[in-house]
Amino acid sequence: MHSANRPGIIHCSTAVLGALVTLLAAQPAPAQDMARVRRTISVLTSPKLHGRGYTHHGDQRAAAYIAKRFHQLGLQAWQPDYRQPFPLTVNTFSEGLKVFVGRQTLQPGIDFIPHPTSGSFQGKLAVVYFDTLAFTQPAIRNQFLQQDLRQKALVYEQQIEARLQQMPELKAKLAEARASIVLTTAKLTASVADTQAPHVRLLVRAQAWPAQAQHVRLDVTAHLQQAYQTQNVLGYVPGTAVPDSFLVVTAHYDHLGELGRRTYFPGANDNASGTTMLLELAEHFAQPANRLRYSVAFIAFSGEEAGLLGSQFFVANPAMPLASIRFLLNLDLVGTGEEGITVVNGKVHSQEYQLLQQLNTSDVGVGAIAARGRAANSDHYPFSEQGVPAFFWYTRGGTAAYHDVHDKPKPLPLTAFPRLVNLARQFLQRLSRTI
Ligand SMILES: [Zn+2]
Repeated sequence: MHSANRPGIIHCSTAVLGALVTLLAAQPAPAQDMARVRRTISVLTSPKLHGRGYTHHGDQRAAAYIAKRFHQLGLQAWQPDYRQPFPLTVNTFSEGLKVFVGRQTLQPGIDFIPHPTSGSFQGKLAVVYFDTLAFTQPAIRNQFLQQDLRQKALVYEQQIEARLQQMPELKAKLAEARASIVLTTAKLTASVADTQAPHVRLLVRAQAWPAQAQHVRLDVTAHLQQAYQTQNVLGYVPGTAVPDSFLVVTAHYDHLGELGRRTYFPGANDNASGTTMLLELAEHFAQPANRLRYSVAFIAFSGEEAGLLGSQFFVANPAMPLASIRFLLNLDLVGTGEEGITVVNGKVHSQEYQLLQQLNTSDVGVGAIAARGRAANSDHYPFSEQGVPAFFWYTRGGTAAYHDVHDKPKPLPLTAFPRLVNLARQFLQRLSRTI
């Protein structure tokens, strides 16, 4: 509605204005710059960063961007360029990744994904369908066991994998196939591995597989990157009173990389969201007026998707004595919040959890906060194992996209994001005063 149609709104009395100003002044720190938040997320999820994995320098480009932001904020560094390098081994799929079956070309990420340990194969293979009667009928089982599968693509449904555990002979036979095509009705959820199998293994959406197809043409190229140099990115704001004690904010910036040349995992929620929140907190605490009594460190980890490798490396090679960390806050998957947030270790550190509940008032809060016990599900865990008190926050609700090509920036609601940043600020402020 045009403002000219709304008389009254401009006839504000001075008294009302005065009250309004007082009210605004009573509000907590200014709301988040959500335009900047969206910009950061769009940089981190852009195709130029190749899914923040270990091909086409995706991880290094992401690290360079984070280090540039740290530099602009004037964060102190322990190591040159804020980088803490470490090696990892990871199986990658950055080249050919095509499946032709019948008249169809299956799309990576949409119709199929490689199993993280999949090996390579280029060429045409005859298809063999696994007959589940082999489980119960010895004659059919023997027939199957006598086949030569070494130049075949074996197709079977994912549900049989549990039954195979009881039949090692059949399981071993299935593993002989040059390629395994595993049909699934579930969502395609990817991950990364540090080994490579000699054979191709693909997870294919059952609906995308043409029934009774007799041949399949594969172009699958897997590269096992051995001792690949990646890096954590870390910096800190020195404390005003007790600079050798630390509050630490962490978030992993790595993700699942690419599927062939055209498809990549943007990882908007996982974990461009947490990396962006870490940068927002760095923006805040780097301001001279907002400095805390304790030093505040910011660590963006690599290698999380490959098994918490960056945080494990840091814990083994810490920039500060681990005993000097008063509290650690890890942010991973914080892009939603329709159903509140979960605090891993909330049941372990009850005092800090109570403080959080206290700060989470209905006016400025993030909705329901739920506590969990210990869980080895993100980068706080290696610290917890070493006795460093730590919380891991993630948001609940919103998108179902997770470890797939649909985890994109636009649909990410960021429902609790500004309030969560505010809560984190207040939480760290209070910890700096009370511990
Ligand atoms: Zn993940």
